[in-house]
Amino acid sequence: MRVFEGLPASNGQVAGPVYIFRKKGCEQVPEYEIDDTLIDSEISRLADAFALTRNQIRSLSAELSKRVSGTEASIFESHVMILEDPMVIEKCQRNIKDKMCNAEWAVNNITAEYAAIFEGMEDEYLRERANDIYDIGNRLIRNLQGESDSGSTQILKPCVVVADELSPSETIALPRHLILGFVTDRGSMTSHASLISRALGIPAVVGIVNLSEIARTGECVLVDGTSGKVVLNPDQSAIDELNKTSAFTKSFNDSLEELKNKQGLTKDGISVPLLANIDSSTAMTDLYAVGAEGVGLYRTEYLWLSLKREPSEEEQVEAYTRVLRSLSADQEITIRVLDLGGDKIIMDDQCANNKEANPFLGNRSIRYLLRNLDVFKRQLRAILRASAHGKLQILYPMISVLEELREANKILDDCILELHQEGVCFDEGVKRGVMIEVPSAALIAESLAQECDFFSLGTNDLIQYTLAVDRLNETIARLYQPAHPAVMRLIDITIKAGHENGNKITVCGEMATDPVMAVLLFGMGVDEFSMTPNTIPLVKKVFSCISRDDAVKMADKVRSMNAKQADQIYQYCKNKLLELAPGVPL
Ligand code: PEP
Ligand code: MG
Repeated sequence: MRVFEGLPASNGQVAGPVYIFRKKGCEQVPEYEIDDTLIDSEISRLADAFALTRNQIRSLSAELSKRVSGTEASIFESHVMILEDPMVIEKCQRNIKDKMCNAEWAVNNITAEYAAIFEGMEDEYLRERANDIYDIGNRLIRNLQGESDSGSTQILKPCVVVADELSPSETIALPRHLILGFVTDRGSMTSHASLISRALGIPAVVGIVNLSEIARTGECVLVDGTSGKVVLNPDQSAIDELNKTSAFTKSFNDSLEELKNKQGLTKDGISVPLLANIDSSTAMTDLYAVGAEGVGLYRTEYLWLSLKREPSEEEQVEAYTRVLRSLSADQEITIRVLDLGGDKIIMDDQCANNKEANPFLGNRSIRYLLRNLDVFKRQLRAILRASAHGKLQILYPMISVLEELREANKILDDCILELHQEGVCFDEGVKRGVMIEVPSAALIAESLAQECDFFSLGTNDLIQYTLAVDRLNETIARLYQPAHPAVMRLIDITIKAGHENGNKITVCGEMATDPVMAVLLFGMGVDEFSMTPNTIPLVKKVFSCISRDDAVKMADKVRSMNAKQADQIYQYCKNKLLELAPGVPL
């Protein structure tokens, strides 16, 4: 048994077999069982890999004989002979059938069997031939793996995915119904893969250096996404402990059921709308299940990431309308225009510039859109067209200078005029909002507020850019401090400027999912919160235990704690909340 401590990225406890996920091109042998419906397809995959491997070796052999002569030139002949030996392929096929294992696993077994025979021989030359066997086996496995685009198609039964790192597009490509949990060597609480795990309600721990090298597919692992603990090959007492924690989590979650159909309210009846952050893959039924009061952030870039291209205007109209139609008439959706860039990159696609040295400081988000007006216009037209079907507002991400807001508004006005002339039906008074996620935007919030209708605080990026801490880098995660006085001050400035102009203030960053921070932000003046859907019930519960006055007092105290460290500020708020909401796990 080995115990590891990482960063708790998504709540919940789970136990299951490890599945080592590696990016294409890495050396590894995924081993998993298949069911009998897949035997034929595994056998044909195996046959293809043998054929491809034979061709590769023949051309290597031809290439070699051009350069050398004599026995060296014939070293590949024995490889071809092995690959053409019907016994070898038949043994692999039988392994697939008898052991119900994947082709890679079968090749690995047979390679080991043959290599062991050679390794046991007395003759040194023949003993050396074991290396040839391994060589062929590795090549076959590489070819088998090269056929699939990612590890996703190889996951056939429930497992805990252990990876070096997962990009957002890799995470969404995995078969969700089979993923029990995630553990990654790298990444942080606000990396997009962590956000996706939270959105899916899948326990996740990130930042366990080298676990993907240490663990092996099939080994048992316990994941506690609430505490950040991971146990590999656990003993019985570790399993019992996990079951106890998980039973407590479950019974507390069950107790939240009654809040599902109620709106977010403080103890003294002040409304605190709790909205959902979604993307194109969110099941809208999940929003009913948690009692979301609307959608405060629709991350549209996931449409691009899942299609690996720009969706057409029609495809976008369809996607946005579908979400609108699944909300009730009084519920609103905030659609954020494309936020590609940073870690959200479409590989091999011109849509995103993935060659930048500093993608988080580069051609990301609104910057990309303002340089690609055709893409921007198609998206704005699609959003406007969808607005005919319900309550919708538009959100601009990553605004850092006033000119960007002005340019974006101008393009939006052009699209409004165009659709008007085309006689298309849409909401001409659609509201436009600015994400405050760059410190400069917070500092010029007064000017921005005059040219938009609402602000949405993107605290994930606001913290990253204010503190110069890469939100993905686990080695500096301790410096990523939501309660840092500098972050608090920027939020205060934003709220004041927004309210003076009559703008509503939402928080859509992950700070909203932490009840401690949500209460503090409410006390600072935030009007509504948008978060990972699964966290809505807990946050709703906590708000029902406090009054507005409690929250305002907490915020006032924090303002006077400027000289304190972030962890002291956080601990103060947490202790206060533990008093106000006893028994709630914080
Ligand atoms: C944020 O930065 O807080 C935010 C909500 O945007 P994203 O996490 O998509 O960058
Ligand atoms: Mg952001």
